[in-house]
Amino acid sequence: MITLSNIHKTYRQGGNEIRALDGINLHIATGEFVAIMGPSGSGKSSLLNILGALDRPDKGIYHLQQDEISAMDDDSASDVRNRRIGFVFQSFHLLPRLSVLENVLLPQRYSTLPDPQAEQRAHALLERVGLTSRLHHKPAELSGGQLQRAAIVRALLNQPALLLADEPTGNLDSKSAADVLALLTELNASGQTLVMVTHDTDIAKQAQRTIHLRDGKIVEDHR
Ligand code: ADP
Ligand code: MG
Repeated sequence: MITLSNIHKTYRQGGNEIRALDGINLHIATGEFVAIMGPSGSGKSSLLNILGALDRPDKGIYHLQQDEISAMDDDSASDVRNRRIGFVFQSFHLLPRLSVLENVLLPQRYSTLPDPQAEQRAHALLERVGLTSRLHHKPAELSGGQLQRAAIVRALLNQPALLLADEPTGNLDSKSAADVLALLTELNASGQTLVMVTHDTDIAKQAQRTIHLRDGKIVEDHR
């Protein structure tokens, strides 16, 4: 599903060049659950941003399904992002003024392909993650675990081919973290391709495959 070939990303800061990604080669098959690990600054978020078409490499080729994302203009890349990729962040990124249901339906509001089934799907997914009684609550009224489950539902709304999660349990207590991880594992078991950044070895153990980054390079890749 994903092929990265010789991906480079360099940031310039002051007079310095920072090689955030330094020649990444990677293939991820449909249905895989991959954990990305590595010390702070090793390039994990940079890699996720490229996979999510949020950013583009300076050099190298990124194929997602049949498309070469790295060759797309910004409009096409954002189309891919909206239709085919779901994002989950450490800090949830829910809008405080909107209810849980409204937050979950946001991707539809921006979609160029209105989907009459989206609302029904939102209800079904919110039920699946145990949030049916919280549909009309605002984010401030939810626990961290509930917020992350709502954010996962939002990420899934457009039925993305690829789900990306950057430290999805990083702001959660251990019980909520376990719940969120169980949900992600269950989604993967039903076929969802999933790439997750984590610092936590125990959390990474849930994935079938763990990739370690250091200084923008892949230094380990095991299944
Ligand atoms: P990680 O997620 O593993 O902590 P990042 O991908 O965020 O690593 O960062 C990799 C390197 O690139 C770090 O040295 C970081 O400081 C640098 N970096 C990331 N984003 C930027 C940016 N927008 N501008 C300058 N340097 C950046
Ligand atoms: Mg990071």
